[in-house]
Amino acid sequence: MPTLAEFYRNFNRQKNFDGVFRFDEPMAAHTTFKTGGPADVWVRPEGGAFPEYSGELILSARKEGIPVFILGGGANIVVSENGIRGIVLDTGGYRGIRREPGDIIAVEAGAAVDDAVEFAASSGLSGLEFLAAMPGSTGGALWMNARCYEKSVSDVLAETEILDLSGPVPIRTRVPRREAEFGYKKSPFQSLDALILGGRFALKKGERSKITGEMETRRLDREAKGHFRFPSAGSVFKNNRDFGKPAGKIIDELGLRGLSVGDAQVAPWHGNIIINLGNAGGSDIKALAELVRDRVRAAAGLELEYEVLFAGF
Ligand SMILES: Cc1cc2nc3c(=O)[nH]c(=O)nc-3n(C[C@H](O)[C@H](O)[C@H](O)COP(=O)(O)OP(=O)(O)OC[C@H]3O[C@@H](n4cnc5c(N)ncnc54)[C@H](O)[C@@H]3O)c2cc1C
Repeated sequence: MPTLAEFYRNFNRQKNFDGVFRFDEPMAAHTTFKTGGPADVWVRPEGGAFPEYSGELILSARKEGIPVFILGGGANIVVSENGIRGIVLDTGGYRGIRREPGDIIAVEAGAAVDDAVEFAASSGLSGLEFLAAMPGSTGGALWMNARCYEKSVSDVLAETEILDLSGPVPIRTRVPRREAEFGYKKSPFQSLDALILGGRFALKKGERSKITGEMETRRLDREAKGHFRFPSAGSVFKNNRDFGKPAGKIIDELGLRGLSVGDAQVAPWHGNIIINLGNAGGSDIKALAELVRDRVRAAAGLELEYEVLFAGF
């Protein structure tokens, strides 16, 4: 049985690999929480060979029982101090954005959402500006069906390109958007065995100054809400209409702002954001989030659902 490092070196020897890889790479360098122990192998394939390379890597690793974690911008994950076993496939090297006929922009999975927003604005296309300054990759935003200012990514989506990994060979397919498959922070990709390769967004011609004006408003609003004051992953819990108020408000009303475990703290200005004051480990963040859930359950009988994802626990 080859070791993981041997498996990966052997695999790469047979490929025309373009990109970067490292063994024992700290995940703290790849998450917006700025925390997380080492990934056994971290690999970021670059450019056009990404789909083929990634599909073969995932299926070959699977045959050896090696797990592969797909990483976008790391803006919605909490990684444990122990790190992630197996391979972390970073999509960040696959980041092309182009305009297509019919006011469509096609964005590769690893492109930062904010870069897609800027590209659309510079093309005089309106529709993505609500996402300005939201951290993360386009693939991650599609997987999460990211949402802000009353709009979801699926609202402007025309189709998604995926690599279907459920069979013996990877199959590249285009999936048209089916309204019913998306919901609040819900996408069909959450239950598919697939790597998202990119999305096509249906936009409308707009006035550039209006588009950039709205982007600036969103950016300033996020700054004013303290999104970038300390490392975080944005909202920790989902909102639930049945609760009658946002998760953050429920947490605020219980006086839990400022509660901390180690260097993880409920933001003193926002109940639904946990921040890393410096040296918070993933387990501090998780313990604090659990404590908040326990307090909310005990005081209000409500079961908060996680929006952030935990890896390596
Ligand atoms: C300051 C701040 C503000 C935020 N504000 C918002 C907000 O307003 N609204 C909101 O919805 N979120 C918000 N977030 C959370 C985060 O930005 C979004 O959830 C974002 O869409 C995550 O994308 P990502 O690329 O970082 O995904 P990651 O965290 O890297 O991954 C998330 C999940 O997606 C999967 N995934 C990623 N890429 C792919 C792919 N190509 N194929 C298959 N699976 C993939 C991963 O395996 C993982 O399960 C905020 C975060 C921060 C730090």
